[in-house]
Amino acid sequence: MSMRIDGDVVVGWSGTGHEIVPNGSVLIDGNSIRSVGTERPQADRVIDASGKIVCPGFVNLHVHSQLNVGDYLLTDVTKRDYLSANWFVFGAPLKEKIEPPAPPAVALGRKYALYSALRNGATTVLDPGGGPGALDDYVAIVGQTGGRVFFSPPFRSHDIFTDAEGRHYYEERADKGRPALKVAVDFIKKFHGAHNGRFQGILNPAQAETCEPSLLKESVAAAKELDVPIHIHAGGNFREFLEILNRYRKPVAEFLADTGILGPRTTLGHMAITGGHSRVDYPRGDELKILAETGATIGHCPHKCAKMAFAMESFDQYLEAGVRIGLGTDTYPLDIVSEMRYASLISRLVDRKSSGARAADVFNAATIGGANALGRSDLGRLGTGCKADVVILNLRTTRYGPRRDPINALVEYGSGADVETVIVDGEVVIEKGRSTRINDDELFAQAEAGAKRAWDNWSARDWNGRTVEQIIPPAFPTRRS
Ligand SMILES: [Zn+2]
Repeated sequence: MSMRIDGDVVVGWSGTGHEIVPNGSVLIDGNSIRSVGTERPQADRVIDASGKIVCPGFVNLHVHSQLNVGDYLLTDVTKRDYLSANWFVFGAPLKEKIEPPAPPAVALGRKYALYSALRNGATTVLDPGGGPGALDDYVAIVGQTGGRVFFSPPFRSHDIFTDAEGRHYYEERADKGRPALKVAVDFIKKFHGAHNGRFQGILNPAQAETCEPSLLKESVAAAKELDVPIHIHAGGNFREFLEILNRYRKPVAEFLADTGILGPRTTLGHMAITGGHSRVDYPRGDELKILAETGATIGHCPHKCAKMAFAMESFDQYLEAGVRIGLGTDTYPLDIVSEMRYASLISRLVDRKSSGARAADVFNAATIGGANALGRSDLGRLGTGCKADVVILNLRTTRYGPRRDPINALVEYGSGADVETVIVDGEVVIEKGRSTRINDDELFAQAEAGAKRAWDNWSARDWNGRTVEQIIPPAFPTRRS
């Protein structure tokens, strides 16, 4: 089947970069793009996108497939209690209190997150890990929601726990994480390429400080054999930076380089904290040079860092050093369109330079930057022969007002809410802002009930037995009648 999209503006591909095609049309044949131009060739179906911008599907390099239960805690506990801030708020539980979530709760979180990211314009997501278990179900959910997903279950050699006094400690796992690596490898062997290639494997050694060097080396060998990319969290918080420095006497980028894990198909979730960061009492060495030379991509999540009151220093400085950058959301909202604005504004703030982090650079990061990190030159761009992953956004609203350059307008004013139509692999999966495949309202109601259950039971897992109300002070007092 063929489909033609007639846009006000199409973001086409010149072969080396994005280019604007006014009054452009995209012709889709099956699941790939046949042509982008100003002609109107015959097609079985025509989508009228007049007044709208037709973009390549965005790539979100950081979507944890879970509900936003932890995100509320994340923002508020951080203010005074760093050791239960950042990912430690849910990633460093009391050992005695761990109770794995029930499979229906895990499935719900996955479905909600993958759908939310897609609804906000990310046709491809990298999932570095959400809830545990029920792996066959995961692939079925990717089938239902309709996006392109890179995932396998994360693994690590060390766990991090909080003791009854609120102190962190790392503990080597008895199995050193090897069985979980094998589960990931077997999972990829079984499901890689499912749903007409929409489901793709990626190896997820969890975090730089929870994986010993030998496990990272084995991960690199396994990824090479499977021919899949790698993601690892690194440089995402100060606690980790100091832990790696203390253990290996080098900053995290150097540590990773020495394990051989850095390469053109490796994404480093965050890598915001390096030597020389204004909040780290350690000089910057060759870290950016190392990152640039190895070709690793930074999965930059500026909104998440801003929530924790820090920033990468900076988007522009990394780019100028030749470091490859993609964008991810990590925290909710899973809105890759707004993330471009955060990337741009925060870089300007850090560098005190109003002309920095230009719209073209952040748009590249959110499209080809992510696609290249995943080794996919057929994603993140609307070129002949590329996958038919397309996003249509409405720029003709009072929020935008009259616009001049469409990409500048999108970065300055846009949000995922402006996404009207999403096409993945040649199929319309979001139409008029709603899923064509699942019941959005039902999913939302289930998510609300699931989140309430999790919040109501939070004190059972908090190191100090605190309720959510104690951890998150309400914005205003509630009137009691
Ligand atoms: Zn993460």
